[in-house]
Amino acid sequence: MTATLIHGIRSLVTNEPALARDPSAPDAPLGLVADAALVIEGEHVVWAGPAADAPAADTAYDVGGRAVLPGFVDSHSHLVYAGDRTQEFNARMSGRPYTAGGIRTTVAATRAASDDELAATLARHLAEALRQGTTTLETKSGYGLTVDQEARAVRIAAGLTDEVTYLGAHIVAPEHDGDPAAYVAEVTGPMLDACAPYARWIDVFCEQGAFDGDQARAILTAGQARGLLPRVHANQLSYGPGVRLAVELGAASADHCTHLTDADVDALGQGDTVATLLPGCEFSTRAVYPDARRLLDAGATVALSTDCNPGSSFTSSVPFCVAIAVREMGMTPDEAVWAATAGGARALRRTDVGRLGPGAYADLAVLDAPSHVHLAYRPGVPLVTEVWRRGVRAV
Ligand SMILES: [Zn+2]
Repeated sequence: MTATLIHGIRSLVTNEPALARDPSAPDAPLGLVADAALVIEGEHVVWAGPAADAPAADTAYDVGGRAVLPGFVDSHSHLVYAGDRTQEFNARMSGRPYTAGGIRTTVAATRAASDDELAATLARHLAEALRQGTTTLETKSGYGLTVDQEARAVRIAAGLTDEVTYLGAHIVAPEHDGDPAAYVAEVTGPMLDACAPYARWIDVFCEQGAFDGDQARAILTAGQARGLLPRVHANQLSYGPGVRLAVELGAASADHCTHLTDADVDALGQGDTVATLLPGCEFSTRAVYPDARRLLDAGATVALSTDCNPGSSFTSSVPFCVAIAVREMGMTPDEAVWAATAGGARALRRTDVGRLGPGAYADLAVLDAPSHVHLAYRPGVPLVTEVWRRGVRAV
C-alpha cells in the first residue's frame, strides 16, 4: 500500500494527549503537535508526530504551513426532508406572529416528495457539510411519521451516510392528534420493525408538547430491545426528565441540554452520556444558549453539533457553532474544537473518527490559518480550504 507523508503542518490537532508535542500546551486534550506531519496509508492514519521524526513514505504532500485538525463529527442533523420554512424564520426574526405548523409544515412537504428528491437534498447537504470540514454526519428520520414514510427516510439516509437515527417519535403524527398512546404503540411496533434494519440509533423528542418521560422510556427501551442504541432530544425548551432518562438508559448522547437542574448537570458529570450542545438552534430561535461551562466544570463530556434542519437551525457550519460556543457558552477555543471533533465522535460511540492518530480514518480538515484557534478568532470566515476523507482529498 502506498504511504503518503502529509507535511508542512504548522499545527496539528490529534486529540491524542499522548502525541502532544507543543511546549505551550503539554498534555492538553487536543494533543497538539507543532511543525507536524502525518503518514496515511489507504483510508487510515498510520503515524502522526513532529515532522522531524517522520518515517519515510512513498509520496509527499505539502499543506503549506497550515493548521490541520480531524474532520468535524456532526452528530445531530435532520436532513431527510423537503420544503422550505423561510417565511417562518423571517416572521420570527421580524417579530411577527406566524401560525403555520412548524414541524408539521415539513412533514407535509416531505410526505409529498419523491424518493429521488429526498436523496438529492440529503446528498446536497452532505456535500455542503463536507466543504466546511465535516467528514462524519449523523442524520435522522422524523418528518414522515407513518410506517412507510419513516422506513423510506431511514432507508434513504442509510444509502448516503453511515450514522442513521430512527426518530419516529419527533412529534405525534397528525393522524393521531389527541391519542398519543396510539402513536407510541405504532412507533414501538410496526414502525420500529420497518425502520430498525436501516438505523443504528433510536431517538425521541422528550419535551412538553412532544413525548413525556414515560413515553420516551417506552420508545427508547423498545428500540434497545431491537438492537438500536438510544440518544435523546432532552431539555431543549423546558426542564424535564429527558437528561436523566438518557443517563439512566446509558444513551450515547443527550442533545440540546439547554434547561438543566443541578441534578441533571450532576448526572451528566458522573455518567458517560455526552451532552451534545446545538447552538445553531438557539441562534435561529433567539433563545438562551446552553451553559457549556457549567457542564464542563461538572466533568461532563460536551459535543458541539449543528442540528441542521429546515426549521430551527438551518446551518451546516460546524465552525459557526464553534465560534458561538466560545463567544456565548463559556467554552475555550480548545474545548470547542475538541467538542466538535472528538466530542462528536464520543456522542456517536466512534473511536475511528474525531482524532488523528494511528488507526483513525484519515479524515482531516486543513485550515487557511496557522492554528485551530482561528475557527473562533475569525468567525464567519471560510477557513477550511482542504478536506480529506478516508485518505483521499475530497475538497
Ligand atoms: Zn434535533
